[in-house]
Amino acid sequence: SEPLAFDAGGIDWNKQQGLVAAVVQDATTLRVLMLGWMDRDALAHTLATRQATFFSRTRGRRWTKGETSGNVLEVVDLRLDCDGDTLLVLAHPRGPTCHLDRASCFPDAPGAFLGELDALIARREAERPAGSYTTRLFDAGVRRIAQKVGEEGVETALAAVAQDEAALLGESADLLYHLTVLLRARGLSLDDAVDVLRARHAPGPVVAS
Ligand code: AMP
Ligand code: ZN
Ligand code: ZN
Ligand code: ZN
Repeated sequence: SEPLAFDAGGIDWNKQQGLVAAVVQDATTLRVLMLGWMDRDALAHTLATRQATFFSRTRGRRWTKGETSGNVLEVVDLRLDCDGDTLLVLAHPRGPTCHLDRASCFPDAPGAFLGELDALIARREAERPAGSYTTRLFDAGVRRIAQKVGEEGVETALAAVAQDEAALLGESADLLYHLTVLLRARGLSLDDAVDVLRARHAPGPVVAS
């Protein structure tokens, strides 16, 4: 692949003794994955190979993330923060980024998993792998998926009235999943619905009703 173009002129190398902090973010979900440090050599290597490469302060050498685990970070974009001491590295992780085998070194924002689920459902729709329940739903069509959403909605309501907390949580999960599939079958994403919610929160006068 071609080297990544990036103007490194704004980096303040003096602040951290020739190093710049590099926050790695998943380019799709924007989840923060890890923090590393880059020196000029690691940055040049990152740009040339498009694989996130750092300077390991403990080992005192250049280190390409995934060089032993295979869980490389394919870099799609780099950005510099406002005062030039932190790089934002947008990357596609090939496997868990944390060496403890977790997707990230940091916990996820509450609700952010819904974005990952939506992305997974979109992949299922495009690829239709055999044996997948999601594939079966897409194959059955919008009417069937809509029917499932209706059923799960009723089940959620009944569980709430029955004061069965475990059932309420389970049915709510079913509902969110089927709703995501339904929106996707109509060419929409859960995010589009969330955008509608957000728009309703546009700053403005609060009017008592
Ligand atoms: P890897 O780069 O995935 O082949 O892992 C090699 C070594 O790099 C690990 O044993 C850790 O010491 C270190 N390492 C891997 N991933 C991380 C990370 N996300 N943050 C800090 N150190 C890491
Ligand atoms: Zn800064
Ligand atoms: Zn970690
Ligand atoms: Zn259900």
